[in-house]
Amino acid sequence: MILSIESSCDDSSIAITDIKTKKLIFHKKISQELQHSVYGGVVPELAARLHIEALPKILEETKEYFKELKAIAVTNSPGLSVTLMEGVTMAKALAISLDIPLIAVNHLKGHIYSLFIEKDEILPCTILLVSGGHTQIIEANSYEDMKIIASTMDDSFGESFDKVAKMMNLGYPGGPIVQELSQKGDKNRFNLPIPLRQSPKIEFSYSGLKNAVRLEIEKIEELSSQDKADICASFQKTAVAHIMQKIKKYFKTTIPKNFAIVGGASANIYLRTQLEDLCNEHNTKLHLSQLKYCSDNAAMIGRVAIEQFERKEFVSIDEIDVQTRIKNM
Ligand code: ATP
Ligand code: FE
Repeated sequence: MILSIESSCDDSSIAITDIKTKKLIFHKKISQELQHSVYGGVVPELAARLHIEALPKILEETKEYFKELKAIAVTNSPGLSVTLMEGVTMAKALAISLDIPLIAVNHLKGHIYSLFIEKDEILPCTILLVSGGHTQIIEANSYEDMKIIASTMDDSFGESFDKVAKMMNLGYPGGPIVQELSQKGDKNRFNLPIPLRQSPKIEFSYSGLKNAVRLEIEKIEELSSQDKADICASFQKTAVAHIMQKIKKYFKTTIPKNFAIVGGASANIYLRTQLEDLCNEHNTKLHLSQLKYCSDNAAMIGRVAIEQFERKEFVSIDEIDVQTRIKNM
């Protein structure tokens, strides 16, 4: 079995995965959303402190499996450095005391492998990763061969939902709140510009749209609940339209057999529905992670770690470090 740890942002999570059967034996996550909600976003120092409380609490519940562990896996990039360090320190201590190898896991690969938790692998697959820190199109041919073919120039899709929610003091995380309010709103009331509409390139940008929303909010003296719902609906429509335009552009040159959406923001129903329609039109099979594995969790880290264990991709205690960003998969 492999014990995996995830602490790259505001979720403390530990999982135990069986190497042979790839089955999840144990999985628990303690989310910090409530504690960060008052600040309208994640406060790194507070997040690190909360990991110090939560991780050992979860670890205690896994003691019965210690004897069967063959490796310790931990997210070491990308993420917030102070929170990554909490998981990495715990992983190092466990690897030393149990005298087993350490596996450093790329969090983004984790999001991709959330598709394969207790499900068959479906590579090659084109992946849309939409999370709090990333908006990417990735061509995943195999574990070894994954290529990022489009990224965001500034804010990410999920982050723009968080920031729009913050502008109206709606709470954190913004994604589910904005999605819910949108249902009561008029998506055609505000005419927001679709980012990079004229650009032939396949890349993303959300800061211009965010600022356009800010300007609309500033024009209204006191926001009524209907105003807020209308802003949410108009913003969500435009944010999704931007992704859809670029994905359609991608489909013009490459029609993938498999297409998947992963990451916390892949829970967005409006986005899911439109991608479903596009995939149906092209006879492309659309794959989604189970909702509980869309946002950060250690189960997806454990699933990638099995691949690394099989390839003996271990890292020494001295070598492992944390990285806030990554350039390649
Ligand atoms: P990364 O994986 O890039 O390091 P992260 O781990 O912080 O970032 P996730 O936990 O994968 O991000 O996803 C959280 C993000 O998803 C938040 O920005 C949140 O607002 C967004 N999100 C969650 N649900 C929805 C939704 N229904 N619609 C839009 N965004 C959503
Ligand atoms: Fe994530």
